[in-house]
Amino acid sequence: MTGAPDHPQDDPAERKMRFLFALRSRGVTDSRVLTAMERVDRGAFVKGLFADRAYEDMPLPISCGQTISQPSVVGLMTQALNVQPRDVVLEVGTGSGYQAAILAHLARRVYTVDRHRRLVREAVDLFRAMDLTNITAVARDGSFGWPEQAPFDRIIVTAAAEDPPGPLLAQLKPGGVMVLPVGQSDAVQSLIKVTRGEKGFEYEELRPVRFVPLVEGLASE
Ligand code: SAH
Repeated sequence: MTGAPDHPQDDPAERKMRFLFALRSRGVTDSRVLTAMERVDRGAFVKGLFADRAYEDMPLPISCGQTISQPSVVGLMTQALNVQPRDVVLEVGTGSGYQAAILAHLARRVYTVDRHRRLVREAVDLFRAMDLTNITAVARDGSFGWPEQAPFDRIIVTAAAEDPPGPLLAQLKPGGVMVLPVGQSDAVQSLIKVTRGEKGFEYEELRPVRFVPLVEGLASE
């Protein structure tokens, strides 16, 4: 076609359209989630060797031996979380900061924690550059949640535990929702949605996933 770029994947508008199309075709249909994901440039969160693959639907390596999740999984988890504009959200596993940046467009306030100080530092720089002022990120062991800021309307865990950690269940508001992968780290895990109802917790299994493990304690860097 005349006038079209030689490499359509290099054209940002075209790239964004294909990125959103891939999300939709994998079940991310919530328009608020899609709009938030359209506004957050995944390319900013992927550095070095893999930067040119940032718009593909695959997990990619980030610093500290961790990974930025696959965009469609980020979308499906965000959709399952059903974030409301006045919500206070806790994310365990800041990683690159990508998921937190998306949540920041949907929630009133986002608290995010990672056991790697370096990841938190890098993510904070990106949040500042993007003017995302409603995110607070700190280095700490998220398996204990963040009692000082609890309770939360929504909790999302982006690393896999064998079971939903008790402290996180305790820090969920009544009516609150938590989305997390559970299972052994070297096997297929299940993404589950926990809702705190009047009579206790309800569990719904969403789909098989694969995440890095939730590890106790702060990391050395
Ligand atoms: N949400 C991230 C991807 C996270 S990868 C993104 O959007 O890029 C999982 C992250 O969980 C890793 O960065 C890892 O360091 C972190 N993690 C693992 N165990 C943890 C724990 N106990 N407390 C806090 N963070 C933890």
